[in-house]
Amino acid sequence: MMHLPSRHRLVVGITGLIFILGSLSAQTATALRDEPACQTLRPASAGGPVPMNPNVLLLRYLGRANYEVAYRGRILLLDTYYDNLRLPYGERFGIKESDITRADSILVGHTHFDHFGDAPSIAKRTGASIVAGPIAARYIASQGVPERQIHLVRGGETIKFDGYIVQTALGIHMPIDASDDAGFRELITTVNPLSDEEKAQLAEWRKGQSDGTRLAAAEDPQDPENDTVHHGTFVYVLTFDGGFRLLYSDTAGVLSGGERVLADSIHAQAGKIDLAILGYLQLGFSLPKAIKVTEARVKIWNPTIFLPSHFHDGEKAELPDMPTGPLFESLRESVPATHSIEPIYRSPVCVNTKTDEYFVGYYVH
Ligand SMILES: [Zn+2]
Repeated sequence: MMHLPSRHRLVVGITGLIFILGSLSAQTATALRDEPACQTLRPASAGGPVPMNPNVLLLRYLGRANYEVAYRGRILLLDTYYDNLRLPYGERFGIKESDITRADSILVGHTHFDHFGDAPSIAKRTGASIVAGPIAARYIASQGVPERQIHLVRGGETIKFDGYIVQTALGIHMPIDASDDAGFRELITTVNPLSDEEKAQLAEWRKGQSDGTRLAAAEDPQDPENDTVHHGTFVYVLTFDGGFRLLYSDTAGVLSGGERVLADSIHAQAGKIDLAILGYLQLGFSLPKAIKVTEARVKIWNPTIFLPSHFHDGEKAELPDMPTGPLFESLRESVPATHSIEPIYRSPVCVNTKTDEYFVGYYVH
């Protein structure tokens, strides 16, 4: 009888371990956890370790829709807009543009400044290639990035890089009509008002810095060269040597025709998406709307692992922080084979690319 309490504690302990490690066998879990890259908050792109095992892919969420991917010695940046003082009162994801010392490629999910603002300086410093639509490509070139590093895309391209292939589809940006978030803005100004200092910073910023506000204000939806919503938003499918396939989208727009065609073409060839990153954000903070849009896309892509993007934009951003619980509960019913992961800033997510088993280093330091 005296042994029962300790046996009980043992069972609880094992259950907790299984929860953290997903479906890992003990042996693979050890392999993933033994990777130094999976045991640090330091991004690989900022001088941290890259996976040693060629079957381990490291993924790290770096705020807003930024992710880094490190695999077989290569480092890819999905969007580039880190801690900065361009926005009023800044945003703190724990990494600054100047921290980035290593990148092979930058994929720009859409041509709004808060998704590529740090691409020019990083590309100049690291020599990274940049894949981007017209507005971003022009801006990046204007900042002195050599043309040979810039791949202009419009959706439908297949670009071969050393070690991986990038397929693109034209996507659709999430709704950004002012009426869509009027109620939410009114609510947050009441319950979470800006301090006088923050108001002053905002006024100063709006007075005219050469940044995203100005770029966005100059857009014209009638002009394909100068529009983000229908001409500058992209979905990327990365197929790595060895076959692991990663999908990336940095906005919570509705499923586009191009995205649907790309998904169908991959599935028609018996291909599967191992890991999908898709936007989860609704400016009016309507969870039913947000879940409907993201869930429709998760169902079409049917990934083994799903992570949201643009759902956690910094504590002072004028964007709602989206709760992942209600989305994941809905996905648990509609796509039961998909494992959803909520990433936190800089924590490593390591995936065995042969088996899709994963380890999330929520508690590493
Ligand atoms: Zn945008």
